[in-house]
Amino acid sequence: MGLYRKALTFGVNKMETNPYQTILSDDYRINSDKLIVRNDKAKDITSPAARFLEKIRIGSIPTCNDEPCWEWTGCRQPNGYGQFRIDGRRGAKKSSPHRFAYEHYIGPIPEGYEVDHQCKNRACCNPAHLEAVTVQENRVRRNADQTHCKHGHLFDEANTYLLPDGTRSCRACRARRARAFRQHQSVVPSRDTT
Ligand SMILES: [Zn+2]
Ligand SMILES: [Zn+2]
Repeated sequence: MGLYRKALTFGVNKMETNPYQTILSDDYRINSDKLIVRNDKAKDITSPAARFLEKIRIGSIPTCNDEPCWEWTGCRQPNGYGQFRIDGRRGAKKSSPHRFAYEHYIGPIPEGYEVDHQCKNRACCNPAHLEAVTVQENRVRRNADQTHCKHGHLFDEANTYLLPDGTRSCRACRARRARAFRQHQSVVPSRDTT
């Protein structure tokens, strides 16, 4: 909550007159998905922030926390996350645009934390949709988003077994594994019983 509050008061202030007008910093403003550069210094389009914003398209409807997603239109990885070369050169260090957005608009990502999308849109870079969470918390959240186990069983109340780490496990699969284990034990007798 603390970090999210900071995002709202730090670079991303909504204008009352237009919900899609967002002030990004002293240098940039986004107005109905167009980037407006506010001072000459910021016209240096080689700056990482300017190159980042060139690839952002702002959605037309609020999706989370009363704000639309900032869709990354640049390269994407097969897993749906964007890819962003911070200093623009080929072969340069790659990062994710949402991680860049977090660090640029909110602050450093604490050691051992991952940046989670509250809007569940992996291509989104809206700082108001991003939250730094521990690896473990992120695992619990990803698990909680799944409606079915990887074998297709529904995670309903009867079929859900809660593990000590907070993630859910499929009872049908646990039962099948237990059966297979017992079967295995009965068909492969241990040496001293035969
Ligand atoms: Zn979003
Ligand atoms: Zn299952």
